[in-house]
Amino acid sequence: MKLLEDRIRKDGIVREGNVLKVDSFINHQMDISLFEEMAKEWKRRFAGKPINKILTIEASGIGIAAVAAREFGVPVVFAKKSMSINLDHDNYCTKIQSFTHGRVYDVIVSKKFLSAEDHVLIIDDFLANGCALIGLLDLVEAAGATVEGIGIAIEKGFQKGGEIIRGKGIQLESLAIVESMGTDGSIVFRE
Ligand code: 5GP
Repeated sequence: MKLLEDRIRKDGIVREGNVLKVDSFINHQMDISLFEEMAKEWKRRFAGKPINKILTIEASGIGIAAVAAREFGVPVVFAKKSMSINLDHDNYCTKIQSFTHGRVYDVIVSKKFLSAEDHVLIIDDFLANGCALIGLLDLVEAAGATVEGIGIAIEKGFQKGGEIIRGKGIQLESLAIVESMGTDGSIVFRE
């Protein structure tokens, strides 16, 4: 998606450790007009799919997913990260290794908000090694719900997540795929 690629080129900052900072329009300050255009693009790419719920993970996915939910006209649920898990029977639980913080989180979704009737679109800001998405897929599977697709703002195509997810036969729509990036600010996108 050209609009997003141009914005990454203009305002994205490449940090050591394969981290792309997009704090001025996605991860700290949020450009809602941009999110609206991204949401319209996902609506177009997932047209005809019987999506009745959007699922994301806190914290950085929530803003984008909320705007997407408005575009699709469906509720949005965010999986919660928790350090000390309450092992009750009211939640689906999984563990996710955080790319940016390097630690493992317990992640939960209440059984009240995800069930076998749901046809889910998963939305997140970044796809790197795929750990966050695999955790979200675990939660959807535990609920017996159906994954209709995954929408990602920025996929880092040189990390392995995209290949893992596409290998599962899931429709993955990343709006910008970074093929390579350098701390000198050079960023190449996949055509
Ligand atoms: P994965 O689980 O695919 O390895 O990483 C995805 C998660 O890590 C995303 O939810 C995102 O919050 C974070 N993340 C991964 N790579 C980057 C990056 O380059 N920049 C930023 N800002 N977040 C990232």
